[in-house]
Amino acid sequence: MTTSAPPLRHVTIRCQWCESWNRVDATRFSDRPKCGACQKPMLLDRPLKLDDTTFARTIAESEVPVVVDFYADWCGPCKMMAPAVDEIARELSGQVLIVKLDTDRSPATGQSFRIANIPTVVRFVGGREVARASGTLPLAQLRSFALG
Ligand SMILES: [Zn+2]
Repeated sequence: MTTSAPPLRHVTIRCQWCESWNRVDATRFSDRPKCGACQKPMLLDRPLKLDDTTFARTIAESEVPVVVDFYADWCGPCKMMAPAVDEIARELSGQVLIVKLDTDRSPATGQSFRIANIPTVVRFVGGREVARASGTLPLAQLRSFALG
């Protein structure tokens, strides 16, 4: 007889209001968890915006896969793909952490991952890159990329 431990499903994310780090059970995202420090709701049904300060820790400490949308505000194809990114963030909430990083505002992270074209989506599992795709992906393709 084999027993298996329940899968680990925690993520560590920084509160968008007070910038405190919170360790949250991803399977309970739909319960609308609140920040332990400021008690404001953590908005987990939409892409989480990361920057050079928050990126490494968020990726490293996530126990669910993370999909990063590397984008910039001036990028037309990025804007075209944004609704699909929002949609999978809602659909896959608690299953896959969907995050966005503006490569203009956070150039160090984009450079360290050698992001040459945007939009580029990168999938991380256990803190390591496992897949990437460049260019505008339609919703169905983005969803299957996110699910791995
Ligand atoms: Zn807070």
